[in-house]
Amino acid sequence: MAFIPVNEPLLTGNEKSYLIECIETGWISSEGPFVRRLEIDLAARVGRQYGIAVSNGSAALEVAVAALGIGPGDEIILPTFTIISCAAAIIRAGATPVVVDADPYTWNMAVDSVEAKITPRTRAIMVVHTYGLPVEMDKIQAIADRHSIAIIEDAAEMHGQNYRGKPCGSFGIISTLSFYANKHITTGEGGMILTDDPSLAERCRLLRNLCFQPERRFIHEELGWNFRMSNLQAAVGVAQLEQLDDFVRRKRRMGQRYTEGFSSLVDVQLPVAYTDYAENIYWVYGLVLGDRYTFDAQVAMQKLREKGIGTRPFFWCLHEQPVMHKLGLLTDVSCPVAERLARRGFYLPSGLGLTESAIDQVITAVCEVLS
Ligand SMILES: *Cc1c(COP(=O)(O)O)cnc(C)c1O
Repeated sequence: MAFIPVNEPLLTGNEKSYLIECIETGWISSEGPFVRRLEIDLAARVGRQYGIAVSNGSAALEVAVAALGIGPGDEIILPTFTIISCAAAIIRAGATPVVVDADPYTWNMAVDSVEAKITPRTRAIMVVHTYGLPVEMDKIQAIADRHSIAIIEDAAEMHGQNYRGKPCGSFGIISTLSFYANKHITTGEGGMILTDDPSLAERCRLLRNLCFQPERRFIHEELGWNFRMSNLQAAVGVAQLEQLDDFVRRKRRMGQRYTEGFSSLVDVQLPVAYTDYAENIYWVYGLVLGDRYTFDAQVAMQKLREKGIGTRPFFWCLHEQPVMHKLGLLTDVSCPVAERLARRGFYLPSGLGLTESAIDQVITAVCEVLS
């Protein structure tokens, strides 16, 4: 049987015809009309005033942090169980990451541990909705309000997800998205910044585009980046966004089918289907091995690979990253829940291109490996 990769995108909507339009009209750079359209359509979808398209989700974080004027002496609280991009944006701005452990049940940041990390230097909480469930935003918002600190929302994995009916990507002063090939909406590579603040939006536009000035283009007051998105990428994104509701339905069906298929597994933690604030969107379908298993995620993943199933490990904790220690950061930090997730967790093929028969094949293989 053919190998089942961990992710396959679904590009069966208007992607091709919009790309042909780009080529036929000659609009292929960031100046083309699809970029603006994606910004407007996506901002409207999540109820934000402004969208600023960028070249990827990591760039979106970098611009968001810089636009807020975060710099040396500032501390940003974020989960340790997240992608390196979150910490990279903070550190490159000259600020200091302060990490919080994970919740063993939702795998998101342990919200009840956040307030204890606040110091007079804390400027923001970087919220990262992880794998399929949003962070408990009411609690985060209350903490941010009490201490007058900003919320930066990394909603890269949450296109189409809501927290208590409010779209992810609409929380905090600024939000970021990724359109990498494994996200619910993809442009191959791409990202977006979302905000309701006009001056912040303007700053993001400048920073994305080398800080060229509208009046005197080649005179620069600040250093920016070339993080522009091309019209070709945005064309794919516009077509993808048209299908978001269908994508969310597919993802939830996938999650349900996996969960039903794994009902006989003993001592394997499955994703939480519902909380009182959201229904899981299964950006990826993760498994966490319980103590009954004498082997860890790496071994389970190798066994699945031998059966033709692609997997990915869970995030490795920020406070256990060699690069952090080399920078003298996050040493002497202990986050036992996240450390365990990183060692015992991995995720299964979860892309939108996954067929129902492929899901059944994965279920059979997983049940063999973990029985
Ligand atoms: C994918 C992802 C990113 C990075 O996005 P890229 O487009 O790959 O740079 C950032 N944060 C989270 C939570 C992600 O899942």
